[in-house]
Amino acid sequence: MNVNEYIASVLETVKKRNPGEAEFHQAVEEVLETLKPVIEAHPEFQAAGLIERLVEPERIIKFRVPWVDDSGKVQVNRGYRIQFNDAIGPYKGGIRFRNNVTESVIKFLGFEQIFKNSLTGLPIGGGKGGSDFDPKGKSDAEVMRFCQSFITELYKYIGADVDVPAGDIGVGGREIGFMFGQYKRLTGLYEGVLTGKGLTYGGSLARTEATGFGLCYFTEEMLKANGKSFKGQTVVISGSGNVAIYAAVKATALGGKVVAMSDSNGYIYDKNGIDIAAVKQIKEVRRGRIKEYLSDHKDAVYGDNCSDIWGVKCDIALPCATQNEIDEASAKKLIANGCYCVSEGANMPSTPEAIAALQGAGVLFGPAKAANAGGVATSALEMSQNSMRYSWTFEEVDEKLHGIMVNIFKNCDEAAAKYGMPGNYAAGANIAGFLKVANAMMAQGIV
Ligand code: NDP
Repeated sequence: MNVNEYIASVLETVKKRNPGEAEFHQAVEEVLETLKPVIEAHPEFQAAGLIERLVEPERIIKFRVPWVDDSGKVQVNRGYRIQFNDAIGPYKGGIRFRNNVTESVIKFLGFEQIFKNSLTGLPIGGGKGGSDFDPKGKSDAEVMRFCQSFITELYKYIGADVDVPAGDIGVGGREIGFMFGQYKRLTGLYEGVLTGKGLTYGGSLARTEATGFGLCYFTEEMLKANGKSFKGQTVVISGSGNVAIYAAVKATALGGKVVAMSDSNGYIYDKNGIDIAAVKQIKEVRRGRIKEYLSDHKDAVYGDNCSDIWGVKCDIALPCATQNEIDEASAKKLIANGCYCVSEGANMPSTPEAIAALQGAGVLFGPAKAANAGGVATSALEMSQNSMRYSWTFEEVDEKLHGIMVNIFKNCDEAAAKYGMPGNYAAGANIAGFLKVANAMMAQGIV
């Protein structure tokens, strides 16, 4: 079977075995297409059934999460943890709480996580989890009861050397704290089983900032390699959660001007540059809506369709909200308005058609699994600090994060060039991330 036939047959099996899981199919297809030259150069991978094994999760844990709301009514959600691949280290990846979470979403995120974690250069395997529970609009007590119920089942399958979950959409410091407290109570163990913990109980300085900061460090390297920088550039950032806020902080510190941000209801545009402290106050402290920004920013305007943010004129766009938020039409709007760089803070925010349009127009494209790897890299640094019973300063962690992101860009750039696709950082990220995992799998036999 030649490489094209081999990949086509693996994809067909993935589709048959995971019917209707569109996000998962999309993620697998995107990766496998770019791996063709590598698989061709390594016939031993095909002989060892390596790709067939790579696309099949090692374990899928799926469970009921019952809890009682403030009115005394019993609620039932569904929980997931997908332990995808532990060839290079214990499973590691976030937990997402959002009403649109399905097995397909967790599977695509877990699959992507394998390559992302490998790219960090740190010893972490790929996994992801979540639930269709949405903390938005729930009281702290409801969120606590839900988190306790979720961990009461999940604690059996995780551990500091087994599987170390972290935050993602809808899971921040509050949720991690509740889950850590319940894990400790059930197991009697004080260990680094979750990352993104609070600073008083084992969290790492700079973890909160890491994904957004890391995204800008990666993007700055990509810009530099192409004779550009953030300095004086207009930046649009979607979302206003953890990743978006700290991407806005760092893009501004690097000399960019962030003019628009969004939430799932709409977007704000401020020609004076977004007042990030005000966004933090609304989203991090008050857990409010981005529209509230208008009440004390008279020059700002609001649009009530979040995807219209891609029509705002910018040089650099950083999608930091959710999957498939940039479709082909949005990509074309960005291109028409002169945007020359799109770098992904969210996971899989661009559809395949959007990526093709952007790359076809020569837009610099920073793929999520490389550009947003700073979060998980710093989570791995949190694991190291927990093992050592020691903490590094903010500056120490930030410096390590910066070094990791510089290295990730270099590896993507070199891998793309080596396999005949110079400047295609998406292909470079897939190849560089894949090779380390593939070599580890080959060494460990058929498992
Ligand atoms: P948060 O829950 O902190 O924030 C998510 C933000 O995105 C919120 O502002 C939310 O708005 C907004 N949002 C959700 N859906 C849409 C939409 N369709 N259009 C516009 N805005 C939307 O999550 P994070 O910041 O942690 O995660 C954002 C992305 O980054 C996700 O793809 C995640 O997987 C990825 N990521 C996160 C990492 C991390 O360390 N946290 C690490 C690597 C990747 P609303 O307030 O209305 O819900």
